[in-house]
Amino acid sequence: MPVNFEQAPILLFWETTKACRLACRHCRAEAIAEPMPGQLSTEEGMRLIDDLRAFTPRFPVIIFTGGDPFMRPDLFDLAAHARSLGMPIGFAPSVTPLLTREAAVRMREVGAKTVSISLDGARAETHEAVRGIEGHFRRTEEAVRMLVEEGHTVQINTTVMRRNVEELADVAALVADWGAHIWEVFFLIRVGRGTELEELSPAENEDVVQFLYEASRYGFIVRTVEAPFFRRVVAERRELDPEVDPVAAFGLGSLYERLVRRLRDRLGEPGSSRAQSVGTRDGKGILFVAHDGDVYPAGFLPVRLGNVRRDDIVRLYREHPLLRAIRAAAFGGRCGICPYADACGGSRARAYATSGDPLGEDPACAYEPVRVASA
Ligand code: SF4
Repeated sequence: MPVNFEQAPILLFWETTKACRLACRHCRAEAIAEPMPGQLSTEEGMRLIDDLRAFTPRFPVIIFTGGDPFMRPDLFDLAAHARSLGMPIGFAPSVTPLLTREAAVRMREVGAKTVSISLDGARAETHEAVRGIEGHFRRTEEAVRMLVEEGHTVQINTTVMRRNVEELADVAALVADWGAHIWEVFFLIRVGRGTELEELSPAENEDVVQFLYEASRYGFIVRTVEAPFFRRVVAERRELDPEVDPVAAFGLGSLYERLVRRLRDRLGEPGSSRAQSVGTRDGKGILFVAHDGDVYPAGFLPVRLGNVRRDDIVRLYREHPLLRAIRAAAFGGRCGICPYADACGGSRARAYATSGDPLGEDPACAYEPVRVASA
């Protein structure tokens, strides 16, 4: 049965703090050692969790993110409170010395559903150029293997950039080799810090999402962030006659061919797909609470909806006009006439970043829906 997103999100990302010992290129200019002014206190965090009880018919999964959530000394108290109310939780820690085996055990004991770790290249040079710390690639591998050993469902998050796109098949091989369960691939939104230099063209994005479908055939779940057109591709691929070459059927480019060839070299012949195609998007099944309590449709869509200190978060999600329009797929441009508007709907964050209209079209998608002339 399709999930109803009108009443409750599936995922609630809570940026518990902005503090983090890393200074990753696409995130910030320098590490932040202390909480930023205005961060929700322990008491306010507990109240936020209490407020989430009004989400029915199911609680969202609270993803404790940051910054680095381990920079909050009260993290496990907050997590335990959520669990005591029956809420599912996950953690998105940075790989720093705070991510110890003891921390992994505590995350398991408190009942974490998933732990996600970032990996931005298959080679140490690539990953460390993004993360800004020598030796971080090795530490990331150690962290992933340790979390798997401790029985966690581990998600690897990778941001696709021009600098790492040719390594994606090798990143997929690491996901498999390190024993991770989910590969979540994030597509850049053009906001500050030179991201336009790293962005791919729509045709390249198409090659990458088609490649991701192939990558989803090796035992781990694959999903995307800010590239919901992956779900259009999943639908297209599931309908494609297995005898037909996708390169010819979808006019794919040499990037796709290189990545798939490399994938086969590394991982052999594929099995059935584990691509995830739940139709969420920013504000539809997803909600983001910033460190200071401001509420956004998602972490990359900076349209402030309200603040948990003053507003009822459940009402914000259910009744805010922007979120209602997003859930109704009331889009402009190509996304507005696309047969995949509901299942995909384009990245609302990218539409906003490029046109200022969060309901505009997603320019990163290569698909050209045909406008049906009205009678
Ligand atoms: S045109 Fe918009 S709705 Fe259609 S597949 Fe592309 S991003 Fe998705």
